[in-house]
Amino acid sequence: MTHPIAFPALTSSVEQNTSQLVDQFGRYKQKLRISLTDRCNFHCAYCMPDHPQWLAKKDLLSFEELFRFCQVMVQLGIEHIRLTGGEPLMRQGVVHFIRDLQQLKTQGLKRISMTSNAFYLKKHAVALKQAGLDDINISLDSIQANTFFAMTQKNIEPVLEGIAAAQQAGLKIKLNCVVLADKNASEIVELTQWAYQQQLPLRFIEYMPLDQPEHWQRHKVISEDEIIQQLKPYFQIQKQQRQHDPATIYRLNDHYELGVISTISKPFCQSCNRLRLTATGELFTCLFANTGTALRDLLQPNREQFLLATIRQAVWHKKAGFIAQQQAPLRKISMHAIGG
Ligand code: SAM
Ligand code: SF4
Repeated sequence: MTHPIAFPALTSSVEQNTSQLVDQFGRYKQKLRISLTDRCNFHCAYCMPDHPQWLAKKDLLSFEELFRFCQVMVQLGIEHIRLTGGEPLMRQGVVHFIRDLQQLKTQGLKRISMTSNAFYLKKHAVALKQAGLDDINISLDSIQANTFFAMTQKNIEPVLEGIAAAQQAGLKIKLNCVVLADKNASEIVELTQWAYQQQLPLRFIEYMPLDQPEHWQRHKVISEDEIIQQLKPYFQIQKQQRQHDPATIYRLNDHYELGVISTISKPFCQSCNRLRLTATGELFTCLFANTGTALRDLLQPNREQFLLATIRQAVWHKKAGFIAQQQAPLRKISMHAIGG
């Protein structure tokens, strides 16, 4: 399957005419994902390399550097910051950082979110809510203990306890499930029914070639259409008009929202409004980019003009995306390091 680039490049005069971040295809950037650490206590089959080599602590951006970066990005039009990883709850100081980020809400920031495996969430749920976290996406690939273990190498109980604690704390939750043909594809209906009963919105994610090289194979991907086919006998399903969200939203039985992120079968690169920062301070303009732009040296005091110019340049040159390249990026770092 090939996808022509359906969106033309602009001239650089557009870049000069805006105070916001825009790329050469006219895609404005409002969303930023920050990887707080590459470390993770899980070993998900679709994410973690067999032998991960963790970054040294000194190589991680400090919270001061991260805050400076966020401040600049909010000036440049970023409205939504998501903290991710690795596992963001393994980075000490994350709750304080969320509290600090609240200051940026007077400058244009609208939402602070997190994506987590929820293993440590029971302990932190109340503090996260009190610090002002607006919402949390929780990875849950199965509710069967054995399948869950086979996919993550961890027990499911702490995760279910983490979800319950977040519900009790009043955190807004969405569940994420990556579907693998040979692991959890036969549990799509069961997981949906469970999430439906819990009234927790669920999003299925097509398996992307972002794990260790040569791991991903197309036949392991379960597509959006296949997912919806499986659910049809059990729910009345209505597809919703696509908005800016990367997920296609379906309404089940007139009230429950199910999303499917179909990067592989229906790439949504034309409307991509996201940027990513790795834990070492590299700006990746696309999940599928081969290289990032190192910003750490520019996050020191008095270098703001260079920082702004470098970010603008990097964003302007953002490529079309998976829609054009249709293959895994040629780089060493996998999803756990770039920050999903
Ligand atoms: N550890 C946290 C978690 O699992 O939620 C946050 C980091 S994880 C890299 C962020 C998201 O990326 C998760 O929802 C995970 O399911 C998704 N992800 C990781 N590898 C993926 C892949 N190869 N294809 C699709 N989604 C993937
Ligand atoms: Fe860890 Fe999240 Fe990757 Fe799973 S998906 S290995 S929990 S970073």
